[in-house]
Amino acid sequence: MDQISQLKSLLQTPKKIVITSHRNPDGDAVGSSLALSYWLEQKGHSCSVILPSEFPDFLSWMTGADTVMVHDIDADACNQKVAESELIFCLDFNELERIDRLGDALKKSEAPKVMIDHHLNPSDFAQINYNDITASSTCELIFRLIANEFDEKDKITEVIGESILTGILTDTGSFKYATSARLLRIVAELFDLGIDDSKLQDLIFNSQSEKHLRLLGHCLKNRMEVLPEFKTGIIYLSKKDYEEFDIQRGDTEGIVNYMLKVKDITVAIFVTEQPTIVKLSMRSKRAFSVEEICKKYFKGGGHKNASGGYSYQSLNGTIHKIKEILPEFKEKLLSA
Ligand code: 5GP
Ligand code: MN
Repeated sequence: MDQISQLKSLLQTPKKIVITSHRNPDGDAVGSSLALSYWLEQKGHSCSVILPSEFPDFLSWMTGADTVMVHDIDADACNQKVAESELIFCLDFNELERIDRLGDALKKSEAPKVMIDHHLNPSDFAQINYNDITASSTCELIFRLIANEFDEKDKITEVIGESILTGILTDTGSFKYATSARLLRIVAELFDLGIDDSKLQDLIFNSQSEKHLRLLGHCLKNRMEVLPEFKTGIIYLSKKDYEEFDIQRGDTEGIVNYMLKVKDITVAIFVTEQPTIVKLSMRSKRAFSVEEICKKYFKGGGHKNASGGYSYQSLNGTIHKIKEILPEFKEKLLSA
């Protein structure tokens, strides 16, 4: 039996289902989780959406956001839900390390796992895999799963459509990256449902605080280093910056992208000093793969043009390491 048929068979009887997504959830993580949960609930299942850490404020308007459980906040209740679950969906990530301690609970559970994802290099912890690295977003895959694999397009309500479009808008930066004719056809169908795209764009992208904009100004003026010989820009933030600007989760979202606005910059690297690790977030243009750098040197991964990773070195040590490894990629950088 192919994997979609296996999934259909699992969903034939009502089940207790856990839906989870990655740490530092973004619009695609939250959007795909909520969309999937509404569809499954229509089909008679009972769903809990459990995320490892909190989602940023700019997603709090989403229908159902208030029902999301967070492992960092209530590990016992989340672990209990996982232990009771009969089926577990893993969305927008492809290795259990991306969900931290929630991954330990998943490993203990014998419930079948379904991975729905669009990142490179999936690991093989799930029994059912619906992966496509050419998909713009996991939300696009949720649409395709419901509409094409299950032939249930009529079950995509306005709320499900809004959740799906949220992930598409955030993962593509409003159709700047990873778009395709296939994606735009899906979006046209979402528009046909009457989804108010401009309302969503406003809620998602024009809801920043004054503090966020001042932080962006600080990053661009005082914390940006351009390395023209490597067509690379680096922005870094120290723990002290976090205190001074009272930076909360979500406040640094999108800052990395600004460096790609500089002519001739191919790679943008955002480095932040966290309590126990230094986090890296990378973006690139065209053929150059930041996934290769993140995977090889920073225990991470993601997509060719958007990846992340981390380091246990100091902030300065990490920046030093970046500068040390860039010459290895110089040829690819200059030809990309
Ligand atoms: P961001 O820079 O927005 O945090 O993440 C960019 C992409 O890289 C996302 O698709 C995200 O899932 C992936 N990513 C970010 N951090 C990590 C990491 O530490 N490990 C892995 N495997 N992927 C990451
Ligand atoms: Mn995604």
